[in-house]
This record gives sequence, structure tokens and C-alpha cells, in this order.
Amino acid sequence: MSNRTLTRQATGVILRHAALLGIGYLIGALNQAPWIGISAALIGALTWHVAYRTFLQHWLQISPPPPIPPGSGDWPQIFARIQHFRNRSAAHKERSEKFGAIWQTFVDSLPDAAFVLNSEFEIQACNQRAADILAIDKSHLTGLISNYLRQPQLQSFLHNANDRNNVVITTPRAPDLTLRCRLSHCDKDHLLLQLLDISEQVQAQKMRIDFVANASHELRTPVTVLKGYLDSLVDDETLPGDLRQPVDVMNEQVNRMQELISDLMELNVLESGGLAPVDTPVNVATVLEGVHREAQASPHCPQDFRIEVTSDTGIYGSTSEFHSIVSNLVSNALRFTAAAGSVQVRWSTSPAGGELRVSDTGIGIDEAELTRITERFYRTEAGKARHQFGTGLGLAIVKHALARHESSLSISSEFGKGSVFTCTFPPHRLCEGLSDSDAEH
Ligand code: ADP
Repeated sequence: MSNRTLTRQATGVILRHAALLGIGYLIGALNQAPWIGISAALIGALTWHVAYRTFLQHWLQISPPPPIPPGSGDWPQIFARIQHFRNRSAAHKERSEKFGAIWQTFVDSLPDAAFVLNSEFEIQACNQRAADILAIDKSHLTGLISNYLRQPQLQSFLHNANDRNNVVITTPRAPDLTLRCRLSHCDKDHLLLQLLDISEQVQAQKMRIDFVANASHELRTPVTVLKGYLDSLVDDETLPGDLRQPVDVMNEQVNRMQELISDLMELNVLESGGLAPVDTPVNVATVLEGVHREAQASPHCPQDFRIEVTSDTGIYGSTSEFHSIVSNLVSNALRFTAAAGSVQVRWSTSPAGGELRVSDTGIGIDEAELTRITERFYRTEAGKARHQFGTGLGLAIVKHALARHESSLSISSEFGKGSVFTCTFPPHRLCEGLSDSDAEH
């Protein structure tokens, strides 16, 4: 109701009561008793209000309510207004019951645990699977979803529309389950929260990681023993000439096996861990200097090999993993670039983040193979033709190590002309003003 209407109504009420008192006064004055006239008018008005108030109380308690009392003035209007609100709320209730039933049918038809939430994240409907996971009777699941699922990552997932990727939670109510959260819009006022049970996938992944860890560990000892004997044979001056070549080949293969085992173990550790430390500084310039020295000792190092560090900003993370990222990219660039070509490594930072770029003028990568080269053991046809065999795990290690630093790898290449591998680090991983003593070595 607007202020103007309110003022008009209040003025009407006051005028009507003033008129009543005036009439009482006049009648009283005509009979030589004006105060009796006023008192009679007041008593009449009061009786009228008390009668209507009593009836209102009675009227509000009875369902369905009796008809609105006839007459004009304020009270019938008040009754009419209350009746209007009553009708509206009954219609609203009917509508929300109808919608509630629709949402219920909808979530019941879903195979995974599902909740329909309103825009305040209050549960409007949920299915039996959701109630089973939370170990609560379905009819008691009402109110805020955060009363039942308190995980901070789920809360930020719900409240931050830009951060709705891949949230995985466990709940103490169902400790054996691992649940992936998925949120979608049902309509403009309702959201569908699904909890997908990925426990089997997680278990299978864990078994694979354990298997690779155990297998690599078991292989490492016999290969180390073989390597020891082969090293002494390689150094043995008295070795018969016809055995020299087989011993060299065996030595080369054992070296490859050792590299493979070490890469498999490294990849496994990266895969099974969470994020790299967010508070340990890594001195990028120092790591790049080290890689520079290693590269110069490599037989593949082209004459034009340059490292450019344009910023003394470092990153937060793991020095050994950052070293592994750079050395894998650089060793690929060196192996696939001719001695007359060039390899450049560049570290730069901007408000948008840090960028490590390793570019070469080597054999390049066919466009059709670009998306596959980070797969384990994938080698390009051109790479195979050059017999420059690595373990086939280098780029997979780079990708996983970058993911642990919330960073990404992008690759561009032109077949026959060269490639550019770019690692992008987000701004919050950058570490300003790093002195040598701050960094982890
Ligand atoms: P590998 O140990 O075989 O180098 P990687 O995972 O590091 O394994 O690389 C996978 C494949 O990607 C390589 O075998 C090669 O075919 C291709 N590749 C990687 N880096 C380059 C590069 N700089 N230039 C051309 N091809 C590359």
C-alpha cells in the first residue's frame, strides 16, 4: 500500500470518528448535556469496534471462514483484505505442492543421488539414493543442504558459479563412497545437485597406481644388478672382441629400462599426489641455469641453445617437479633438433601469470598427432623414424607435474619447421622477490 493511500485511509478514519463525536456533541447540546452526547458517541464507537474485533477473532479460527460481515467502513474492508491474502496463500500452497510433486518425480527418476535446491540452497526434493547416502529418513531431509553436507569444497562449489568443476567429496555418513558433485539449473529458481558415485573408478585407479608402483619397485632391483655386471663388462679391457657389441647393446637396453622404471615411478608419484605445495618457493632462474649446464653436456645440444630469464619472479611449488618439467621439454627439443638448429627457453611473467616457453627449430609434429603426444608411450611417426627413443613418458610427466601446479601445457608446431611448448602458471602460483636463500634446492 502506498504512503498516499495510507494517509488517505487514516484521514478518513479520523474524520469519520470526529463526525461521530460531533453528532454526539450536537445531540447532547440540544438536550443541554453535550458531554453526555460525546460519551454516548464514544461508547457506541467502542462497542462497534469491540464487536467487530471479537467477530474477527472467531472468523480467523473457523475453517472455512463464514461470510464477511455486511456493512461499510473499516472493518469489512479489513475482513476483505485478510480474505484476499488467505486465498492467495492457499493458491500459492497448492502451486508449490504441485511443483514439489513434479520435482519429486523428477529426482526419483534419476539413478544417482540427487537434490533439487532452491536459490537459497534449501532442499526442495531429494531421491531415496540421496537419503541412503546421508543415512537420514527422506522425509526429514529439509532445510539447507549445508546442514547435511558441510564440506568446504562443496560450499565453494555451490556458491561460486565460476568454480564448478570436478569437485570430489567424501562424507563421514558414507565413508566408503567417493562422490563427484555435479550442479545444473532446472529452471531459473531451482538447481539440481547430483552426487555421482565414482568409488569404483577411484578404487580401480588406486589399484593401477599400486600395481605400477609395486611392479616398478620389483623390477628396479634385478635391473640394478644387471647394470652393475654390465658396467664392469663394458669397462673390461680383456673382453673378447666378438662380445663387445652384444655387451654394448645390452648396456644400452638396461639403461633404457632404468630410465623407464624411474619415469614410471615418477609419473606414479605425480598421479597419486594432490596439489604441489603452495608455500614453497621455487627459484626458476636457478633451475634454468642447472638445466642449461646439463644441456650443454648433452651430445644432442645444438650450437644455438639459449636460455632467457626476463623476470626474477619464481613460483610456488616443487623444485624437483619444476626441474623435471623443464628438463623433459629441453631434452625433447635437443633430441628432435639438428645440430645446426636452435633451441630457446624463455621464462617471463605478467599480471596474467608466468610463462615458460621451450621452442625449437626441429622436426616439428604433424597436426594430427599434436593431441596425442602427451599420452603415455605415444611417439610420433617422425620421431620413430629418427630412432631417438626416450621412454615415451616425458610429456605425460610434464602434464601431470603442471596439473599439480594448477598450470597447463599448450603445444604448437609446424611439421618440418619446429615446435613451441608453453607452460602457463596462474598468478597465485607466482612468488615475487625471491632471493637464493628463500628457494628450496
Ligand atoms: P619421449 O621420451 O619419446 O621423448 P615424450 O612423452 O617426451 O616421450 O614425447 C612423446 C613424443 O612426442 C616423442 O616421442 C616425439 O615423437 C614427440 N615430441 C616431443 N617433443 C618433441 C619436439 N620438441 N619436437 C618434435 N617431436 C617431439
